[in-house]
Amino acid sequence: MKEKTMVAIALRGITILPAMTIHLDINRRKSVESANKAMTSDQMVYLVTQKEITSQNPALSQLYTMGTIAKIKQIMKTPNGDIRILVEGVKRAKLLELDEEGECLVATIQEIEEEMIEDVEQKALIQLLQERLERYKKENPSASKEFDTIGSETHLSRALDIIIAHLHLNQKGRQEYLQVETVMDRFHYVMEVIEEEIQVQRVKRNFQAQVKHRIDKHQKEFLLREQLKVIHEELGESVNPSYEADRMEERLSALRADKVVKERIQREIKRFKSLPGASQEAGLIQNYIETLLDMPWNKKKKEHLDLKKVEQVLNEEHYGLEKVKERVIEYLAVRKLNGKGESPILCFVGPPGTGKTSIATSIAKALHREYVRISLGGVRDEAEIRGHRKTYLGAMPGRIANGLRQAKVKNPLMVLDEIDKLGSDYKGDPSAALLEVLDGEQNKTFRDHFIELPMDLSEIMFIATANSLETIPRPLLDRMEVIEVSSYTENEKFHIAFEHLMKKQLRKHGLNEHQLLIEDNAIRKVIRNYTREAGVRGLERQIGQLCRKAAKEILLDGKKEIYITERNLEQYLGKEKVSFEDANEQDEVGIVRGLAWTSVGGDTLQIEVNVMPGKGAMQLTGQLGDVMKESAKTALSYVRSVASSYGVASDYFETHDIHIHIPEGAVPKDGPSAGITMATAILSAVTEKKVSAKVAMTGEITLRGRVLAIGGLKEKILAAKLAHITTVLVPEKNRPNVEELSSEIVDGLNIVFVTHMEEVLKEALVC
Ligand code: ADP
Repeated sequence: MKEKTMVAIALRGITILPAMTIHLDINRRKSVESANKAMTSDQMVYLVTQKEITSQNPALSQLYTMGTIAKIKQIMKTPNGDIRILVEGVKRAKLLELDEEGECLVATIQEIEEEMIEDVEQKALIQLLQERLERYKKENPSASKEFDTIGSETHLSRALDIIIAHLHLNQKGRQEYLQVETVMDRFHYVMEVIEEEIQVQRVKRNFQAQVKHRIDKHQKEFLLREQLKVIHEELGESVNPSYEADRMEERLSALRADKVVKERIQREIKRFKSLPGASQEAGLIQNYIETLLDMPWNKKKKEHLDLKKVEQVLNEEHYGLEKVKERVIEYLAVRKLNGKGESPILCFVGPPGTGKTSIATSIAKALHREYVRISLGGVRDEAEIRGHRKTYLGAMPGRIANGLRQAKVKNPLMVLDEIDKLGSDYKGDPSAALLEVLDGEQNKTFRDHFIELPMDLSEIMFIATANSLETIPRPLLDRMEVIEVSSYTENEKFHIAFEHLMKKQLRKHGLNEHQLLIEDNAIRKVIRNYTREAGVRGLERQIGQLCRKAAKEILLDGKKEIYITERNLEQYLGKEKVSFEDANEQDEVGIVRGLAWTSVGGDTLQIEVNVMPGKGAMQLTGQLGDVMKESAKTALSYVRSVASSYGVASDYFETHDIHIHIPEGAVPKDGPSAGITMATAILSAVTEKKVSAKVAMTGEITLRGRVLAIGGLKEKILAAKLAHITTVLVPEKNRPNVEELSSEIVDGLNIVFVTHMEEVLKEALVC
């Protein structure tokens, strides 16, 4: 083995292999000198790597024992004074000695002679390498293109060097390889390194795939979440579940409620936290928790039960209604004496627009109670009162619970509006649920299906309103103290308009009392010819319309004040809307005017009877209820029984048909009070005697012709008066009701009390 000396360069952090061509930057003086020296002779230089990159002048021991003889192919100066050389590794050589004394390093080296390997063997081994490299390339598609040329190499040793030079080995790895002396050992070394690289690439690829998958997933989730956030923001909902949970916890700690309630809410919050924020279930639970947190469990508002104050507020805000106010004060007095909850529930019954809800509002104001109104009209489903179970899609608490939630205290005044309009169907009976709400024994622990926790309703003050008592379920009615609110007379309406409605509407339309003046007669005309109602709602609407028109004239036409008189009223409200069906001009046969009471007030109705030859059939037309039909039959029987005394032939009823018609009007009518009217009409038709056009009547009839008491007298008499009737026949038994009526109503009317049909006929028939 040849030994020789040659200039050397100590490399730092890099190992050059025989198959490599590479640029090296050198700056140490000795190294620069070595390069220069080499360039002046055969360009050959020995490149050997330092063990430590820090040593400036490495001694022999600080260098690896194996280096590479290389050829300097190019030498350049860099702008900063260093030089850059292009070297090509030629052969490996062992370092034996080093002379570091001179201007440059001089090494004594021994070239490594490689063992002889048969060509076939070399070829086979190269093929093996090639195969393995193929596998490697599969794992690492970005592997060096140099590997493709390995197959054409004839020297195993060179092939190995090329492979190592282009594998991603670090300096230590390369040096280690360089140190291996025999070709066969190097072959095994390279095979192992490739295998290792394959594994590394595989792991790396798997890992990358995983990371990519995860990143993709994260990115997708991130994107979705961002989108969701935008959607929630658009909908005005917030998204961050932990923020939501914290907020709920905060509200919970401030909540005034029993331990059971708080524990339940706590449990639900915990459940909420464990669910992914955007899930449907989380949304449902959140809704549930928010509902529970909104309920006024133990929160109360102090009631001021000062009867004087209540009386004052009621008088200030409502005209008339003396009886109602008196009953309310009595009721509150009893309530004050015997403590809360014991007294029955108040129920205001009367036609629409008569101030039932508005009195309830005043009571709430006077007592300093929160006010909530629950409309029961058309409620058919029990769940509307008691709530839906949570499992039900779109479940909600019932109206009572919602009312409390709105009131924010457990002791509001709750108006159950239109309790007579409760329905019931296959979905259960809401009145049964309501019964539980109103029952002092049960309502301390009322259970709403949605809320699921018992609620205390015993401190709510309930006031119900209804138009008529007839359709209120009996058990409910038994729990209530009924206070009747009746229709207003024209005079009452006039006062209400001037003292209350005008002020209210002016305020609502931003006007003052000097800007809009309405003459008394104009108001009376509005009452008479523009509204037809028991209450004052329509009147209030008309006044509202006057205010609107006035506001427009003030702003657009620059007027300072508007004065409305009976004459210019039409200009503002249009043509008269109501013309009353007046008393008939002439007395007629078979036509009698009756008086009816409906849930929207009183009315007059003409009953017509025709007789024609036939076989004794009776026909009834018009929207009649069952009670009215029975009443018609009774009336006919009575007439038949007395017909002979009026000179009617004994076979008359076998040879004639009778047709009774009651015009429908706006509302269906029922009840027995048209009994005497029908009997009179039949008798008049049968006897062909005329009935006075100035007479109207009301009263139930018995088979023997007795006249029984009826209800709704005030409304009926008001209606008669409006229709310009002069004589009204009223059952004797109703005398006390008539005596209660104010003189404004009865003045100018001839009220005749009757006990029997004979008296009725005497008054009504024109002889
Ligand atoms: P209801 O509940 O009986 O249908 P509301 O209470 O809604 O009627 O009354 C309708 C309007 O008439 C309300 O603006 C109310 O203030 C007014 N009103 C009714 N009666 C009176 C009254 N006696 N005094 C003053 N305003 C009244």
